[in-house]
Amino acid sequence: MSIRFGSAGAPESFYGQGHKSSLEMPAWLAARGLNAYEYQCSRGVKIKEQMARELGERARLHDIALSIHAPYYINLSTEDPEKKIKTKGYIMDSLWVARWMGATTVVFHPGGGPGIDRRSTLERAKGLFTEILKEVAAAGLDDILLAPETMGKINQIGSLEEVLELCMLAPQVVPCVDFGHLNAVTQGNLRTKENYAEILDKIATALGKEALTHLHVHFSPIEFTKAGERRHWTLQESHLYGPPFEPLAELLWERKLEPVIICESAGTQAEDALAFQQMYESVKAH
Ligand SMILES: [Zn+2]
Repeated sequence: MSIRFGSAGAPESFYGQGHKSSLEMPAWLAARGLNAYEYQCSRGVKIKEQMARELGERARLHDIALSIHAPYYINLSTEDPEKKIKTKGYIMDSLWVARWMGATTVVFHPGGGPGIDRRSTLERAKGLFTEILKEVAAAGLDDILLAPETMGKINQIGSLEEVLELCMLAPQVVPCVDFGHLNAVTQGNLRTKENYAEILDKIATALGKEALTHLHVHFSPIEFTKAGERRHWTLQESHLYGPPFEPLAELLWERKLEPVIICESAGTQAEDALAFQQMYESVKAH
């Protein structure tokens, strides 16, 4: 394994060059020197088995690591019985797509506002997630990593601590560390190598050092207000909002960590992923 950089969905330049199908993405990414692709099921799991298998084969041919972003509608803390069933369905459907594709990881937003009592909301989320994890194991899908993502809005379940609590429920549950989101909820507190180190150390303390070796990371410039995340930008505007990638690159190199880093910039996710890769390479060269 080695550190990998890739794109969340297809960037504007891919479509601008006349490409239409995500089946073309693995070759397109490989031609640019990228080696990870997060397939978006964020607006629903629509991809059919045959296409998922074909995409998986092409990704292996081009050495592209695959992950899936599950639907945004997942809400582990819901009290509505119908939404609980839907949440379970979204996770199971995304895992099946991952199975067909040979994707290693399914990322999802734990979902739900914090309610009046944040602790009891999280307990409710853990309860439903435990039920879902039983079904996942019964279906034999528990070899696929399930990654709750750290969220960008303060009024949302999905702080780093809450994500780590969810990760303690089963061995295949791992954090998706979205540094743009963590920067947004801390009002721009991710600036130095020490700031990043604090996050990595928290993860290691909660889940063990091995959890850091092949972390699943989202990295994108994200504008924030007092409430947290406002919107995703591109690297061009990243000096306005942060977080800076260089300190993280230095830390990853120093600690010999090999995460998959997925860029979710608005439209330039492949170009920005390449820029991050170049920053990492120049840290290595010094
Ligand atoms: Zn996400």
